[in-house]
Order: sequence, then structure tokens, then C-alpha cells
Amino acid sequence: MDTHQLLRELPPVDEVLGLIPAAAKQSLPHKVIVDQIRTAIAEIRKQVLAGQLADPEDLTPRQVAELALKKAYGYWQPNLRPVINATGVVLHTNLGRAVLSSQAREAIYIITKGYSNLELDLETGERGSRYSHVVELLCQLTGAEAALVVNNNAAAVLLALNTLAQGKEVIVSRGQLVEIGGSFRVPEVMSASGARLVEVGTTNKTYQRDYRKAITEDTALLLKVHPSNYRIMGFTQETSLEDLVALGAETGLPVMEDLGSGFLVDLRPYGITGEPTVQEEIKAGADIVTFSGDKLLGGPQAGIIVGKKKYVDQMAKNQLTRALRVDKLTMAALEATLRAYLWEPEQTIEMVPILKMLTVKSEILQKRAATLAVKLQNSLEDKVQVSIEPGVSQAGGGSLPMLELPTTLVTLRPGGGRVDKWAARLRQGTPAVMVRIADGKLVLDVRTVLEEEEESLLEALADCLPLS
Ligand SMILES: *Cc1c(COP(=O)(O)O)cnc(C)c1O
Repeated sequence: MDTHQLLRELPPVDEVLGLIPAAAKQSLPHKVIVDQIRTAIAEIRKQVLAGQLADPEDLTPRQVAELALKKAYGYWQPNLRPVINATGVVLHTNLGRAVLSSQAREAIYIITKGYSNLELDLETGERGSRYSHVVELLCQLTGAEAALVVNNNAAAVLLALNTLAQGKEVIVSRGQLVEIGGSFRVPEVMSASGARLVEVGTTNKTYQRDYRKAITEDTALLLKVHPSNYRIMGFTQETSLEDLVALGAETGLPVMEDLGSGFLVDLRPYGITGEPTVQEEIKAGADIVTFSGDKLLGGPQAGIIVGKKKYVDQMAKNQLTRALRVDKLTMAALEATLRAYLWEPEQTIEMVPILKMLTVKSEILQKRAATLAVKLQNSLEDKVQVSIEPGVSQAGGGSLPMLELPTTLVTLRPGGGRVDKWAARLRQGTPAVMVRIADGKLVLDVRTVLEEEEESLLEALADCLPLS
């Protein structure tokens, strides 16, 4: 058959539609089915024109219907979907950072099912503040006088700078002019806020006297920025928060710290060091501390501002706050997450998934990895060489960059086929799975795999095996 004859063989949309099973018509919108039939026909037409399809058997209405249905179901999968995180990076920004506690998930469900008192004071019947639901909790947990919540920490920093220093100068150490994951760069945020950056010291050393010398009558704020995913090692000198606070007291200038992650519980007993808690920074005298809701706090995306009432009140009145405000989903999840911190530390760690992942005992990881390895070897048989070996997981999300969390890895070396193709198929499967690849092997870190995901992980690995 020549190309023109073949094209004439292509069935019309209606004919294909007639072959779509009733069950599919019930579970998919009509519009989606019709669109995907059109797409399927167009795709086949292109293949015919390119000479890639010459068998009329491939053009039957049934064949087209099958292709269209596959496409329609693919299209109907949510774009935002669950991913099993087998990378061992606990706060993986690309994978949505913190896994929420069951209490936070429940709170979102309950609050979004109907109406709520988001901005209503149930006692007086008057208009209330959406922030009121978490302010007391935040003050109690951090020891601060006042608190405010915005969309994320970048917004918190922007709002604080704009409120306290628009048209004025903010002094920052050259060692802290960092970029955090692409779109947050201290100098850029500063200029977006309308504040003028005054850099002091050098990359590796900044003393209190450097800040002091830079103070003019235009100075509005002394700022300390957590270097996040970056460390200056060796011959270094960082001005402590205490020294900045002393200078602030002496000169009447507020001191702000962009803490980035913001631990509310001390994990030093679990060997997790190098990150101060928010309460320690407040106690040290910081006037304003900002941190993320979805990093080490383990809650929803949010930017939390705590500190002196005088400054927080000014921020609350800033018009920008309205533009940066959080919704009820965030509030529900944040309140529930914060309440977990009222329990004893061991109980908090048990409730907040990312704290549990960070502190889980090596023996437990070893056991889980060993069990997974045996199951994998059984299900994949001799198609894959399965081993377990020691490795390290990362906190991620720009937190605790120097921390190496010892873990046990399961590694899989396929007998044939390419490991990167296997990884790609895992990513595109249902559920999607993200793994690491090293030395031609697929590497799984059970630290970030939820226990209830283990069965699905096993199935996904078997289903997606690379073909030889
Ligand atoms: C992560 C981080 C930010 C940005 O916080 P988001 O909540 O992602 O907006 C800002 N500053 C520091 C120091 C950070 O670590």
C-alpha cells in the first residue's frame, strides 16, 4: 500500500470512540478521551508519512483505540504525584522537602473538608487573624515575644528587610553573601527588598570591628545569614551572634538572623551537631530570626519569623505581608507540626518523619537494607547482582552540609541493560521511584523510604528491570 492509501485507512474519531470500553468512559472525561484519540491518530499519521509505519494492521480502529486509551490514562495521572525517595537525601528540595507528619496530613484533610475559623475569633464572633492559630505556639516553643508566618523563608527575609531597612543600609559579612539553591541570593534579595547591602570583612574572616566601622547614620540592620549548603573551612573567623547582639545593643541597631533551617529540637544527643536551635538564637538576643517550615522543622512550606514584638508588628502591617500570606492548608499543617514539639523530644522525633529519618539508628537501617536485599535477590533472581554496603545519607535542603549520616545501601548491578535506563524507567513508573546511580550500579538508601512504601519499591524495581 502506498502512503496515501494507508492514510485513507486511518479510522475517523467517532469510529475509534465507539470502541472505547464503557468502564474507561466512566473513569475518564469524554473530552480527554476524544483529545487523546485525535492525538493518537495524528501520531500514527506522522509515522505513516515518515515511512515508519507501513502495515495496515497497525492502523485498525482497535489499534488506534488501544493507543488512545493508553494515552488517556497516562494523561489522567496527576502531574504532581508521589515519588518513593530512595536517594537517602532527607530534605530533597526537588522531591518536596519535608514529609509531613500524620497529624499534619490529618489537619489538612479536616480543615479543607469544610469551612473553618481561619479568620474568625470564635469567642467574640469578630474578625480574627489567620496568624493567631500559631503565634502562641511559636512563641512558647522558641521563647520569642512575637511571630509571623509567610509563604517561605525567602519571603520572610524579603519582608523583614523591606520593613526594617527599605532605602537604608544592611551590614552583612562577605562570607555570608551566599546563593541557596538557584533562586535565593542574598545580594539579589537585598536589592529586591529596597535595602542597600553593605559588605564587610573578607570571605573567610569578619570581625565585630568590621561591622562597627561600617555603621553610618543610614544603617538600619545588622544581618547574619546562615551559609546553608556552604562552609568556609580552615583559616576562618565568623562574628558570633552574641558579638553582633552586643554591637546592636551598643548602637541601637536591630540584629536579624536568617537561620535557613531552624531546628526546634536539639538533636545533639543523636550525634547531629553544627546547627543551632531557634530558641538558642532567640536566647542569644537576636531581634529577628527567620527560618523555613519545610526544612528541619519538618512541616509545610512556610517562612517563619520570630523575634521582638516591636519589629514583628511592623512587618505584620507591611502591605507585602498580604501578598506573601499563607493559606489554610499551610496553617493547618503548621499548627499540627508545631504541636508535635510540645511532646518530649523522643516523642516529637517519633511523630515528625524527617526527625525520625535523621535520627534512626544504624542497626535499624542495616536490618531494613538486609531484608530488602534478600527480597530483591529472590524476586530478581540472577538477573541482578544484589549487595549491601556501608554508605552515607545527606540531610539535604541546604541544612547540615557537613553532616555524614552513616547508612546501609542496597546496590543492584543488572546482568544486562543499562543502569541509567533502569533508573529512568523507575522515575517514569507508577509509583515513581528516585534512586542514586554509582559505578554502574543502582543504589538504594532505605533511610528515606517509608516503611509502607517498601512493597511498592520491590514491585517497581522488578517491573522496570532493564532489558538485556
Ligand atoms: C533555604 C534557605 C532560604 C530559603 O528558604 P525557602 O523556605 O526555601 O524560601 C533562605 N535562607 C537560608 C539561609 C536558607 O537556608
